[in-house]
Amino acid sequence: FNTERFGQHILKNPLVAQGIVDKANLRPTDKVLEVGPGTGNLTVRILEKAKHVTAVEADPRMAAELTKRVQGKPEQRKLEIMIGDFVKAELPYFDVCISNTPYQISSPLVFRLLSHRPLFRVAILMFQREFAMRLVAQPGTNLWSRLSANVQLYAKVDHIMKVGKNNFRPPPQVESSVVRIVPLDPPPPVKFEEFDGMNRIVFSRRNKIVHANFLAKGVIEMLEQNYRTWCAEKDQIVEDELDMKAKVEQILESTGYSEERAAKMGIDELLKLLSAFHDAGVHFA
Ligand code: SAM
Repeated sequence: FNTERFGQHILKNPLVAQGIVDKANLRPTDKVLEVGPGTGNLTVRILEKAKHVTAVEADPRMAAELTKRVQGKPEQRKLEIMIGDFVKAELPYFDVCISNTPYQISSPLVFRLLSHRPLFRVAILMFQREFAMRLVAQPGTNLWSRLSANVQLYAKVDHIMKVGKNNFRPPPQVESSVVRIVPLDPPPPVKFEEFDGMNRIVFSRRNKIVHANFLAKGVIEMLEQNYRTWCAEKDQIVEDELDMKAKVEQILESTGYSEERAAKMGIDELLKLLSAFHDAGVHFA
């Protein structure tokens, strides 16, 4: 039951566990955040190298096992276990995040880490192979998606290790991969909700042209609503005969991306598109 609910697949191969921790290049001054420590196979290795570890674990029984594992050892003082759901937990300061978490929380994990301040130095995270491949995908390839664009706006992501199912007990259904995430510092001055809101539209059918995706049901109406709200907030007068469809088409034309396909658009192009909309007072969130 818990295997299902908490995605408990324990990393049993010590070489892989050590490999993951080594990839973080920990310094003796580092504070580390670990999400889902389980029985502590990564945790004990992190404790050898770092100054402090905060481990967030949802299952109290796992937390108890980990506590027992360090009890009476010098490392005990360096470890704080927070029992609870990572998604709701209040996060401490950390330099590095290392985690092999259940794959259900992959997306919230990545975006929560990237929005945390101050920014961390590096995160070494294990994911389902296909999710990892989408994180590192480049424009023009099959896996380039809204997820790829949203993450790569804020971070450099590299695939660093493939991990087969048999390294876990019990083995999961899918293959896994470890990625390294290094946040861009300083982060680009773009509101995530705006970039993501536009990407929802642009990537809704990634092989259609951008223009077609903006004409999908409800999109023009939503943008008109946002535009009117923005004008009201800025004390700007809305055009008497506002034709939102024409306005959107005009913005798209001005960028030259109207006939482009999301599947091919890189971060810079997406950012240019977003700023053309913003210049015209059209917002996505
Ligand atoms: N890190 C350990 C390892 O590599 O052997 C355990 C990995 S296991 C795939 C995932 C762990 O995350 C389990 O211990 C599970 O109880 C815990 N977990 C599941 N959902 C969680 C959540 N929302 N917040 C924190 N921990 C969670």
